[in-house]
Amino acid sequence: MARVYNFSAGPAVLPEEVLREAASEMLDYGGSGMSVMEISHRSGLFDTIIGEAEADLRDLMDIPSNYKVLFLQGGAYQQFAAIPMNLMKNRVADYIVTGQWAKKAWKEAAKYGRANCIASSEDKTFSYIPDCSDLPVSPDADYVYICENNTIYGTKFKTLPDTKGKDLVADVSSCFLSEPVDVSRYGVIYGGVQKNIGPAGVVIVIIREDLIREDVLPQTPTMLTYKTQSDAGSLFNTPPVYGIYICGKVFKWLKAQGGLAAMKSRNEEKAALLYDFLDESAMFHGTVVKRDRSLMNVPFVTGNKELDSLFVKKAEAAGLVNLKGHRSVGGMRASIYNAMPRAGVEALTAFMREFEEAHRA
Ligand SMILES: *Cc1c(COP(=O)(O)O)cnc(C)c1O
Repeated sequence: MARVYNFSAGPAVLPEEVLREAASEMLDYGGSGMSVMEISHRSGLFDTIIGEAEADLRDLMDIPSNYKVLFLQGGAYQQFAAIPMNLMKNRVADYIVTGQWAKKAWKEAAKYGRANCIASSEDKTFSYIPDCSDLPVSPDADYVYICENNTIYGTKFKTLPDTKGKDLVADVSSCFLSEPVDVSRYGVIYGGVQKNIGPAGVVIVIIREDLIREDVLPQTPTMLTYKTQSDAGSLFNTPPVYGIYICGKVFKWLKAQGGLAAMKSRNEEKAALLYDFLDESAMFHGTVVKRDRSLMNVPFVTGNKELDSLFVKKAEAAGLVNLKGHRSVGGMRASIYNAMPRAGVEALTAFMREFEEAHRA
């Protein structure tokens, strides 16, 4: 069995230690004689799994006690609807459109109320984060929405927008747990876990209690009402038991690595290896403005489509997989999430250096 270095944007690399531990428990979890996939979500065993997962996540992110943590399904995409349905009291919300995911969230919200795009970077293929220091925030906006790390384009908000007192809602799917955050600055933080935490099938919503309301938009499905899920402790119906179990193991792994401050410095070191190489290379170039560069997703191009395809093909043969860029940017993209070891990024830059030597014009 040979593991590769997997640079996929998602579903993405998971810590090998976690996968091994899960494998060792596959047939018999905790002496139960059953796999976690076979146990009841109403059992004491699962109570402990979800309880510890929540406690460890609260610990990692230092989540204040007036925030609820929900483990839900439907991916990040389902939250594009759930957020306006639950939060649009005035039926007005402001969106900052910094990529395809933010744009999709904005379009979805427009089904439920007046969704304004108050800033965008679409004019330059989303290659930067717009200035958000003095935005035309609507006086009656129920919230201001951002996608904090743009998975496809490789940009990240390094400072949060000035929302002029409105609640901030952030999709953090691709930067979840990559660095410490001040949860109290947000109304809602949410993300699908399949980028930086666990297996596809779980979305985590961290929401300030006063935003969990009964007076949601009419016809909001029971399942999409935060109050239903919060009152039931994420156990209103059958939750994604196995996915939550793996997330819990990743939280414990992150704590053992030293927590989010340690992850941040490690992520900065890994990203610097790649960005420094891109800045000095005559062949490979990063595609976004330097100050907005993501630590998690690094798109780059050679400027020559045939050379790009050859690179992706040869890299794959060398055990560096899923480097093909998103079709809207082209070229390559290396996603270097928490679980990507430094050795993987070193192998990638060494391979890029060799490729450049061999194919110099
Ligand atoms: C992948 C991704 C999504 C979509 O996630 P699903 O779980 O597939 O719905 C949304 N937002 C961001 C930032 C993403 O990276």
